[in-house]
Amino acid sequence: MSRKVEFQNLEITNSRFSKELKEAADRVIDSGRYLRGRATQDFEKSLAESCGAKYCVGTDNGLGALRLIFRALIELGRLKKGDKVIVPGNTFIASFLPLTELGLRPLPIDPNPETMCIDAGGIAPFLSDEEKAILAVHLYGTPCRMKGLAELVKERGLLLIEDNAQAIGARAEAPGINGSALTGNLGHAAAFSFYPAKNIGALGDAGAVTTDDKELADTIRALANYGESSRYHNEYCGYNSRIDEIQAAMLCVKLYYLKYETAARRRVAALYDRLIDNQAVVKPLIDNDMVQVWHQYVVRLEDSVARDRFRRHLEENGIETLIHYPVPAHLQPCYKGLAEYPLPVTEDLAGRVVSLPIANLDDDDTRYVASVINTF
Ligand SMILES: *Cc1c(COP(=O)(O)O)cnc(C)c1O
Repeated sequence: MSRKVEFQNLEITNSRFSKELKEAADRVIDSGRYLRGRATQDFEKSLAESCGAKYCVGTDNGLGALRLIFRALIELGRLKKGDKVIVPGNTFIASFLPLTELGLRPLPIDPNPETMCIDAGGIAPFLSDEEKAILAVHLYGTPCRMKGLAELVKERGLLLIEDNAQAIGARAEAPGINGSALTGNLGHAAAFSFYPAKNIGALGDAGAVTTDDKELADTIRALANYGESSRYHNEYCGYNSRIDEIQAAMLCVKLYYLKYETAARRRVAALYDRLIDNQAVVKPLIDNDMVQVWHQYVVRLEDSVARDRFRRHLEENGIETLIHYPVPAHLQPCYKGLAEYPLPVTEDLAGRVVSLPIANLDDDDTRYVASVINTF
C-alpha cells in the first residue's frame, strides 16, 4: 500500500520531452548563435500567440520580467518614484522586489480568504490618490477576478500589471468578453517565469513579458539589452536581462505541450477535490467560471500545530509537501515593518496553508494521497 509521492521530480517532468529537448539544444549549439537568434524569435512568437498578446519579449527570468515592466513604465513617465503599487500580501517575494528596487512603494493587501487572490472588493477600501498600479498575481494558478479589477482600474485611472508566473494557460472572466480570456493579456502588461518548477519550466532560468502596447514592448526590449535603442546607442541605462537561445529553444518544445501539461494538473486537482473528504482539511475553491491551472494545490489546516501534524502524517506515508509561503514578504527581515495596514488574512494563511504534490501524479498516486489525507 505504501508508496512514495515526491513533491516534484524535475527529471520526470523533463523526461517526457527529453528527445526533443536534446535535438533542440543540438540545433542551437550548431547554429553558432546563442543570444537574440531564431529560437528567441520563435519562442516570443509562440508565447504571444498562446495568450493572444501582440508583443512578447523574452527575459532572463520572472523577476527580470517584472523589473523591466516597472522600469519601462517609469521611463515612459506612466509611473514615478514614490508611487504606490498594490500587491497581494501572500505572494512570492519576487512580486515585491522589483518595486522596492525601483523606488516604488508596495502596498500589500490581504487576499480574499476564499480564492487566496486579491480582488476589487478587498482593494477599494485602501485606495487613496497615491496608488498608481495594481500587480495582480494569479497565485497558485488561480486567476484573480479580472472583471472587477479591470473596472476598478478604469474608474481610478490605474495601471494593471499581471504577475503570471504561476498561471500560464489559465483563463479568467474578462471585461467585454463573453466567457473567459487567457491570463497574460488581461492588463497593460504581464510577466511570466519559466523557473524549472513552474508549469512550463526552462532548464535553468528564463522569463518573458507580454503586452499589446508597442511603445512599452520596445522600451522593455531596449532596457533588457543594456538600454540600447539601436546598436551602441544607449537610450537608457539598462540591464542585461535577455533570454538565451538554449532556454528559448527548450521553451519552444515545452510550450507546444502546454495544454497537455495543464490538463494533467487539472485532472489531479479534480480528483483531489472529489476524493479528499476530511473535516480537518479545507480544499481550494474550484471555480468553473475560470480555467485554473494549479501551479500549486493548496489546502488549509486549522492552525500551524495541525499543519505540522498533517505534514508529518503525510511524510510518514511517503508523501512530500511544501509550504507556499511560510513567511509573508512584509514580515521578512529585509522588509520588516513594510505593511501600513494589518494583514490578518495573509498572516493567518501563512500559518495554515500546505501544498500537496500535483506535478507528475497519475490517478493511483492521487488516490493514494487522498486516502492518506482521509485517514488523518
Ligand atoms: C516564480 C515567481 C516569480 C519570479 O520568477 P523567477 O523566474 O523565479 O525570477 C515572480 N512571481 C511569482 C508569483 C512567482 O511564483
